[in-house]
Amino acid sequence: MDVIHLLPDSVANQIAAGEVIQRPASCLKELVENSLDAGANRVQVIVRDAGRTLLQVIDDGCGMSEMDARLAFERHATSKIREAKDLFALRTMGFRGEALASICAVTQVEMTTRRAEDETGTLIEIHGSDVVRQEVCSCPVGTNIKVSNLFFNVPVRRKFLKTDQTELRNLLTEFYHIVLVYPKVSFTFVHNDEILLELPAGTEKQRIEAVFGNPKRNSYTSAFVDINTETELVTIHGFVVKPESATKKSEQYFFVNGRYMRHPYFMKAVQTAYSGMLPNDYQPSFFIYFDIAPEAIDVNIHPTKTEIKFADEQTIFQILIASVREALGKFTLAPTIDFDTRGTIDIPTAPVASVSRPQVTRDPGYNPFHTRNNTIYPDRAPKNWESLYQSTPSTPNNLIIQNDSGPIWQYGGKYILLPTTEGLLFIHQHRAHVAVLYAQFVEQLTHAQGAMQQLLFPEVMVMTQDEIVLVQTLLPDLHAIGFDIEQLSPDSYSIQGVPAQLADKSAVPVLQQIVANVREREADTQSEWREQIALSLAESAAIPTGKTLTETEMRDIVTRLMQLNDYRHLPDGKTIVSLMNDDELNKRF
Ligand code: ADP
Ligand code: MG
Repeated sequence: MDVIHLLPDSVANQIAAGEVIQRPASCLKELVENSLDAGANRVQVIVRDAGRTLLQVIDDGCGMSEMDARLAFERHATSKIREAKDLFALRTMGFRGEALASICAVTQVEMTTRRAEDETGTLIEIHGSDVVRQEVCSCPVGTNIKVSNLFFNVPVRRKFLKTDQTELRNLLTEFYHIVLVYPKVSFTFVHNDEILLELPAGTEKQRIEAVFGNPKRNSYTSAFVDINTETELVTIHGFVVKPESATKKSEQYFFVNGRYMRHPYFMKAVQTAYSGMLPNDYQPSFFIYFDIAPEAIDVNIHPTKTEIKFADEQTIFQILIASVREALGKFTLAPTIDFDTRGTIDIPTAPVASVSRPQVTRDPGYNPFHTRNNTIYPDRAPKNWESLYQSTPSTPNNLIIQNDSGPIWQYGGKYILLPTTEGLLFIHQHRAHVAVLYAQFVEQLTHAQGAMQQLLFPEVMVMTQDEIVLVQTLLPDLHAIGFDIEQLSPDSYSIQGVPAQLADKSAVPVLQQIVANVREREADTQSEWREQIALSLAESAAIPTGKTLTETEMRDIVTRLMQLNDYRHLPDGKTIVSLMNDDELNKRF
């Protein structure tokens, strides 16, 4: 008996959908790209529940005929290429003819569409690949497609969706990738009846300002310089941040031929161009657009992949470095570097940001090494913690430390040196303090016991929509740890108080660091983002490398470090202590 048979289309489509449509964001990408391919001047995106229940895209593009409206949902049905060679001269975002077939396999779709030359339009309704309705209707020119109940027939996939906040952020990120290359098209993005983005048609710069800054002030894009390089191989244009305006939080975007791309190798080129110009762990923001002959890049990319292969990457790498350097060179003449003013804007009535804050409620005897009564959780410190480390030799796990008497030194403003029974212990002073503070912050987050330090002048932090969404998620924990912040306008928060341990640090960079870390590490559960909050705060509050320490301070930090469960590594894996044992030392002589 023969056993092979062809799968019905509905099943084949569902399998394909697994690849193309992984989450609401991938669905949105496909729909908006279709609108742009259809020549739309205006695209409206309407979302409910982060796309779980509704994703609607309305465009004023070319629309479809009655016949095409039906065909569009078949697999490998496309108007964009006809033969294989067309693949090498793509001018459209889509070409695989897979998206609509995949979308309609795992959702309920209702679409109305009309071409300018037709008097009536077509309404078509498809549930899980089955056409349940097709009729003539009256509707405006263009296409209005409503995708409801994503994965309604694939419960397993539904379960894999993340929290609404994360899915919404993914939607916005995907949306940014597209709107940044189509500045001449106007877009709106509405979520649960709230307009999150309203982007009028304009120039690239205006679009960047509209997404990341405040179009009225142009405060965001004024921190950028233009880059512009034309060679036979490639044309590069765009904007790179002035070194003095760089922050720890960066927006880094590459586009090629009207498409967003990730390109770690080219990223290196940009970083190289900035080398020596930025403080440690600062990242340059940039928006760089490449134009290149279509045959010089690999177009047959996977629909969900954003990496793009170039034929001549090394040469472009060099051109890119030169191009960025040239743009930056124009600015090294006027170095008014003040690394503390970024990300803040002026608010009326009071000076902010770079003005050092008056010490209002700060305890004059404040010492970052001590709590009020000079002890940290005395009830929880193991009674005989030294004994915990007495057993087998040679790893820093098993040390006997005479911390309250013997010698202790600081070396190079960076390390604390401490003789132990097993050898000489090197302790990274900054990381040690980070570890101690981290444990403290985690504890305070768990018990909502953060101590707040009121600011005399509130600081204002301007954010992009995806960051606003993220901060809303973090808000209860930020309050718990001692931030007094509230939303001031649709794109900003005002900060009135900070965790007491931050002492005289400026609040905005600290919050930016938290946001950047949560975003980068894709922290999606409360325990994950609490870890990022605690770690970012600890990094900011800890004594820096380069600070001279007194003997008491060194002993205090070592004692508190040794009380931790893991005093050897930070949560992100960085090494805190290293032991040089007698053998190693003796070998040197
Ligand atoms: P692809 O975009 O790869 O061609 P899709 O499945 O996304 O495949 O779409 C199939 C076809 O449906 C497109 O080639 C296009 O002809 C038509 N289509 C889809 N969306 C729109 C739209 N918003 N306006 C006009 N035509 C559309
Ligand atoms: Mg498409």
